[in-house]
Amino acid sequence: MKGFEYLQNELDEMKSEGVFRELIPLETEQGSKVVIKGKEVIQLSSNNYLGLTDHPRMKQAALNAVEKYGVGTGSVRTIAGTLSMHEEFERKLAEFKHTEASLVFQSGFTTNQGVLSSILGKEDVVISDELNHASIIDGIRLTKAARKIYKHVDVEDLERALKESAEYRVRLVVTDGVFSMDGNIAPLPEIVELCEKYDAILMVDDAHSSGVLGRNGRGSIDHFDLNGRVHIQVGTLSKAIGVLGGYVASTQALRDYLVHKGRPFLFSTSHPPAVTEACSAAIDVLLEEPELIDKLWDNAKFFKDGLQKLGFDTGKSETPITPVIVGDATLCHELSDKLFEYGVFAQGIGFPTVAKGQARVRTIVTAQHTKEELQEALDAFEKAGKELNIIK
Ligand code: PMP
Repeated sequence: MKGFEYLQNELDEMKSEGVFRELIPLETEQGSKVVIKGKEVIQLSSNNYLGLTDHPRMKQAALNAVEKYGVGTGSVRTIAGTLSMHEEFERKLAEFKHTEASLVFQSGFTTNQGVLSSILGKEDVVISDELNHASIIDGIRLTKAARKIYKHVDVEDLERALKESAEYRVRLVVTDGVFSMDGNIAPLPEIVELCEKYDAILMVDDAHSSGVLGRNGRGSIDHFDLNGRVHIQVGTLSKAIGVLGGYVASTQALRDYLVHKGRPFLFSTSHPPAVTEACSAAIDVLLEEPELIDKLWDNAKFFKDGLQKLGFDTGKSETPITPVIVGDATLCHELSDKLFEYGVFAQGIGFPTVAKGQARVRTIVTAQHTKEELQEALDAFEKAGKELNIIK
């Protein structure tokens, strides 16, 4: 259609640079093995840490909700779209997270956008880790607050930024709990101490820690025994929880404030009953089936050790996210393609998601993988890695 030539030109440029990406549809449900392009492959690219996307209790909860309440809510939360189950789930989640209250947003992305954009004004400053998730960056872009970036997990640089920020009304420090591209954990005990020393508010994004770290998967704050010392916990319901949505767990005052000011919350229709009831069932699963989390960590250790023994560079990973850092973007995509050929789906990730020269195949094992599948995947990595001269 005439008028979109400028978009097509940019797309053509992306194609010539080799960064144009096709979406890759799965032909089966999510799981340790999936079918892509008619081929069964081991799934190492999903965030379905505990395999909850097709857990029988979750599916049943969703089915019951559809039968009883239908498929949609017909309104935003603040008009006619709050069902009692929404509030029941928020109370349950707050209790699980050891906070006074919680509020659910449509996604983790809009949670970060909604929280950051609404609670900060031009008299405030936000201090952010340089590798924080895009949704935090976009949330910061939407505020009128001053911005400071500190070097990745560098607490000395964070202290410098805090010292330079004495004149602001509110200093808000924001960090991912687990960083999604490297799988390393933020040094929260040191960050909490600095925030207490400089009277700053701390916000932690537990997207990759909820259901993964802490007692029964309560997250990174519980992992470090910091309950009650982090002002704002945010996270997603779409990774380990296996469904969809985002949450903020904090004080009743913050919840009430966001109900009035959190724009994605205010102006977007609420979650369908099946989503909320499945999320609620996920909390029960976390509380009653902690062996899933043990299996996740056991699998993560087996796979990470295996990659390291083969000689791959797995960076600073400490969690089930294990990057295989290759450096060159073209080589990285070649590795991903070869892995697919050998029966493994592990996506290559390059610039701008990670820095130039830091391209990697990012792997995430789940509680659903068997040791045999993981060994099969390691064999594929060995074969592909040797063929491409990434390992000896
Ligand atoms: N924060 C982090 C750290 C994430 O990795 C993600 C998911 N990519 C999000 C927020 C967004 O969550 P959601 O997919 O639920 O929008």
